[in-house]
Formats: sequence, C-alpha cells, structure tokens
Amino acid sequence: MPSTSTQPTPILTGQRALVTGANSGIGKAVAQALAAAGAAVAINYVASEKDARQVVEEIQANGGTAMALNADVSMEEQVREMFASMISAWGSIDILVNNAGLQRDAAFQEMTLDQWNKVLSVNLTGQFLCAREAAREFIRRGVVPELSAAAGKIICMSSVHQAIPWARHANYAASKGGVMMLMQTMAQELAQYHIRANSIAPGAIKTPINQSAWQTPEAERELLKLIPYNRVGETTDIARAAVWLASDQSDYMTGATLFIDGGMMLYPGFRTGG
Ligand code: NAD
Repeated sequence: MPSTSTQPTPILTGQRALVTGANSGIGKAVAQALAAAGAAVAINYVASEKDARQVVEEIQANGGTAMALNADVSMEEQVREMFASMISAWGSIDILVNNAGLQRDAAFQEMTLDQWNKVLSVNLTGQFLCAREAAREFIRRGVVPELSAAAGKIICMSSVHQAIPWARHANYAASKGGVMMLMQTMAQELAQYHIRANSIAPGAIKTPINQSAWQTPEAERELLKLIPYNRVGETTDIARAAVWLASDQSDYMTGATLFIDGGMMLYPGFRTGG
C-alpha cells in the first residue's frame, strides 16, 4: 500500500553533516532540512552563538541530532579544530555544506583592499579550507555502503553571480566565480575517491544578507523585475535541493551547479522580445 505520510523520507539517516554559517538564513534552513532527512547536523557559526544554539534546540526538539561549532571559516586553525571536534564527537563526516558568506559592497573605484580581502577570504578561501578538511576525512574513511554510495558530498553555496556580473559587488561576484571553478576542479579531482562536489546557485532568497532588496513593497517590486517566476525565493527552496544533492538520489551528479533562481538567469530583460 502506498505511504500517505507527509513526513519527509529519512534519506540521510546515519549521515553526519556540517553546515557553515548555519545560524542564519539559507544555512539555517539547510541544516533543519538535513536534520529532518535524518542527518546529524553540526551548526557552524562565527557570530551569534545564541542563534546557533537555538537552531540546535529546534532540531533536537524535532527529534534530530545537532551541535553548535564555533569557527571563522577563513581561519585555517579554527577550521581544523572545528573538523577535529566534529570527528571526535560523531566519528566522521559525510556531508559538507559550504554556505558561509558575506558582502562588503562598494563602487569599484572606491572598493578598499579590506573589503576585497574580507569577501574573498570568507566566500572563497573559507570554502577551500572547509572542503580540504572534509576531503581529507572522506579519503581517509572511504565509502561506507550502508550510509551512502559516495565517500562524501560537498555542496558549495554559490550564487547566480558566478555567472552574472554585478556592479558595485566586484569582490562578491569574483568570489562566486571562484567558487564555481573551485567546485568543478574538486569534482574532477576527487571523483576518483567517490567524492561528489556540486553547487547551488541561488537567485534572490529572502535572508538578512539582502534585506534591503525586499524589505519594502517598492524594493520588492524592483527586484521582481529580475525574476520571471515573479516571487522572491524562500530559504526552503534552497534547503530542499541541498537535501537532494546530499543524498544518493543525486549519486551520478558531480561538478554541476543547480540554479535556483525563479528564472533570474534567463535574461529577464528579453521577456517582451528585447
Ligand atoms: P546570511 O547573512 O543570513 O547568512 C550568512 C551566514 O554566514 C551567517 O550565519 C554568517 O554569520 C555566516 N558567516 C559570515 N562570515 C563567516 C565566517 N567567517 N565564518 C563562518 N560563518 C560566517 O545570508 P544568506 O543569504 O543565508 O547567505 C548564505 C549563502 O548564500 C552565502 O554564501 C551567500 O553568498 C549565498 N547566497 C545568498 C543569496 C540570497 O539571496 N540570500 C543569493 C545567492 C547566494
């Protein structure tokens, strides 16, 4: 008899995930969705321990397993210690979601080196440092067939701005273009170890990072001109895809970017014939 349950299938049971920047926005929703799918989830945060603890408590209240881990993803030692803590607590890691990111916007001619370096160090170097630690553990441990067909899964949070140039955001667009090549190179190089790497490239999703773009009805109307599907994205739109990418349901996919953007990549300016 077909199941009539509305509960998500626990397709990640027994797996252990680390989500960076999981105390807020997309990372928080991804962590909650991975936990609902049966994974134990480590909630990385750099600021606001209170928010991280709240995510942990929410997951635990729903019967899941979670812990909070503090680390600045751009700092090598802190990243090493974070992975060591997770592996010592849970034995290993199966899923890394490289989500932490930020913006420091400025007109190109006014952008400071600090603004440039900050964005590149968190958005790109942070993804490298975390993925390298995860890959080391995936390679050491290898495939555990009872858990997953892959030795490990790396999901990089990119952006439509890995492909769409963005005025006043040269640092951010460059970091996400870098994430695209980092992810593809990891996918190519690590496939021999049965490690999969893929990206999610969100369009405009309602989170604190872009509040000014949807906070008022006027701002939201302006933003919708860029979105053929005519709604601003929700964090759950991204979280559902992350669960699928982390699971064996996407086992033959590596090196791919899923654009989840309501059609933002479809040259909306040409909607009426150009
Ligand atoms: P957010 O500001 O809610 O979340 C970003 C998270 O990253 C926060 O938890 C923040 O504390 C964390 N973070 C920042 N610096 C860090 C560091 N050094 N170490 C560890 N954590 C750090 O914003 P969000 O929209 O949820 O962003 C999540 C990811 O999604 C980012 O990589 C962002 O570039 C990407 N993204 C977001 C959108 C969108 O429309 N919201 C679109 C495309 C891509």
